[in-house]
Amino acid sequence: MLSKAHEGKTSFSCEVFPPKRNDDIYEIYKTLDEIKLLKPDFISVTYGAGGSNSKKTATIAAYIQNICEVEALAHMTAVGMDEAGLNSLLFELKKKGINNVLALRGDQPKTMSDEEFENRYFRYASDLIPKIKTSGDMFIAGACYPEVHPESANQDEDIKYLKEKVDKGLDCLITQLFFDNNIFYSFMEKLDKAGITIPVHAGIMPITGANQLGTTVKLAGSSVPNALSSIIAKYGDNPADMKKAGIEYAINQVADLKANGVAGVHIYTMNKADVTMAIHEATFARYNETCTE
Ligand code: FAD
Repeated sequence: MLSKAHEGKTSFSCEVFPPKRNDDIYEIYKTLDEIKLLKPDFISVTYGAGGSNSKKTATIAAYIQNICEVEALAHMTAVGMDEAGLNSLLFELKKKGINNVLALRGDQPKTMSDEEFENRYFRYASDLIPKIKTSGDMFIAGACYPEVHPESANQDEDIKYLKEKVDKGLDCLITQLFFDNNIFYSFMEKLDKAGITIPVHAGIMPITGANQLGTTVKLAGSSVPNALSSIIAKYGDNPADMKKAGIEYAINQVADLKANGVAGVHIYTMNKADVTMAIHEATFARYNETCTE
């Protein structure tokens, strides 16, 4: 299980997602075999909207925990889940040796009617937490939004509900991806004022292709600073240069976060081991070498 105490140094963790096709499961294992060499503090595995692919999440998390010997954090969503479903998922995870979960509300899947979404059994991520706690000792992470959750009226309201979620028993928070560290620092000040003191892992997504902004990033609602849009304008048509510049941008973000003492950096790897390794090499690996000299 992940440590519930913050150990004082910036942790390094990664997120992977299950492949759509069953045949591609070996691809993700290959990626994980490379990422594990970086000795990340944990690797999280996403959960398909409404519970689709949930078996794959557990299978991949088990590979991380038992074969890679890295702490696995399994995502789970409340949407599409009832109490029996939650108990059976927790049983399955525990059987596989996984004791860390990211408790999420989730979004309305395309295949779910508005009525079904409105009448969901668990309304918010916070409703999952007491149920997870009664199932035994588990490390529970939650999501947070430096640029405000899209359904929230404003940041004060978002942070008020976040505080309630934390108080129900979260052990850490992982942020939505952001590209402007100043937005994160200002968010951290607000969390501090609200009395939220658990470790916050900063979610960083390296932009290695121009079209990534149009898809993943649009969904996340993260604002794009001029420095990043200039990179895309300059290198967008040249995939190799775009990848290099996108990695460099992420390296600068991570280096700055570390210098400012962030509790953790969580890389949204998009299942790309080479990109993750380049960021780690330039930030965590070099830093550790300096420390041992
Ligand atoms: P909640 O914490 O429940 O909040 C949702 C909204 O409800 C917010 O606006 C909040 O302010 C409001 N709210 C909370 N409590 C109350 C209350 N008591 N009364 C009124 N309003 C309230 N999605 C997936 O499908 N699979 C994944 O694997 C996945 N991984 C993610 C990982 C991270 C790090 C992040 C940041 C997001 C992830 N998501 C994933 C997306 C997530 O499911 C969506 O952002 C979803 O819309 C909100 O989930 P949540 O757990 O933050 O919700």
